[in-house]
Amino acid sequence: MAEAAVQLEEYFVTEDCIACDACCNDFPDIFQMNADHTRAMATKTSPVGKFNPWDIINDCPVDAIKLVNLPMPPKPEGEKVAEVADAGESDNADWMQRWMAVQDQLEPQWERMKRYGMASSVAEEKDRYVVRFDMPEKVPNHRLKFKWAIPDEMPEYKASVEIHGNNVKIRAKLEDEKVKKLCGWVNSFPDGFLRELNFEVPIKSHRLSYDAENHILEVSLEKAAPVEKAA
Ligand code: SF4
Repeated sequence: MAEAAVQLEEYFVTEDCIACDACCNDFPDIFQMNADHTRAMATKTSPVGKFNPWDIINDCPVDAIKLVNLPMPPKPEGEKVAEVADAGESDNADWMQRWMAVQDQLEPQWERMKRYGMASSVAEEKDRYVVRFDMPEKVPNHRLKFKWAIPDEMPEYKASVEIHGNNVKIRAKLEDEKVKKLCGWVNSFPDGFLRELNFEVPIKSHRLSYDAENHILEVSLEKAAPVEKAA
C-alpha cells in the first residue's frame, strides 16, 4: 500500500519585512535572507507538525510572515489569554486601516532635521547667547507606530548642557520607552541628538526652558565676564 504523502506548509514573506534576521536565525530550514539583506524569503516548505505555525508567525515583529497554502491552526491557549489581557489591543483594532491611509504621505524635511538638532538658531545678546531648537512635534509614521498604538504627538526630550569654556555641548534624549522602541525601526529617527557649539566668549552658566505646547527648547548661555587684557 502506498504511503500517504506528507503535507507541507508553505510560507510567504511580505514586503513589510524589515530584515531583522529573526526568522532566518530561528527557522533556518524555511527562511533565508536575500542577497541584498533587505528581505527574508521562505525558500523551503516545512512538514506539517514539525513546527507550530503560530511560533513562526509570531517570530516576526512586523507580521510579515504568512502561511499561504493551509489554514492556520487554532491559537495556542497562552495566546488567547494574552489577547484578553492586552485590553489596549481591542481599542486599536483598526490600526492597519489607519496606517494604510497615511503610508504614502511624505514627511517634511524640516521635521526630520528637528530629530538631529539641526532645526536650530543662535542669537547673541549683550550678556548671553540663546540657542533655540525646534523640537520634533510628530512621531514619524510607520506601520509599528499604529500597531503599537503610539500617540501622534512627540513626547518631551530630556535636555542637558555641558560647558567647557567656549565649548558647549547640548544633548537631548528621548525618555518615553514606547517611542524609543520605535527608533530602532524607523529610518532617520535617532533617540536623541548632540549639538556642539563654540562661542567667541567663554560661557559661565546655562538655563534650560521648554515650551511644550510649541515644542521649543531654549538654552540660555550666560557669558563669562570678559577677561581683562594685560596693559
Ligand atoms: S522575522 Fe519578519 S522582519 Fe524579521 S527577517 Fe523574518 S520576515 Fe523579515
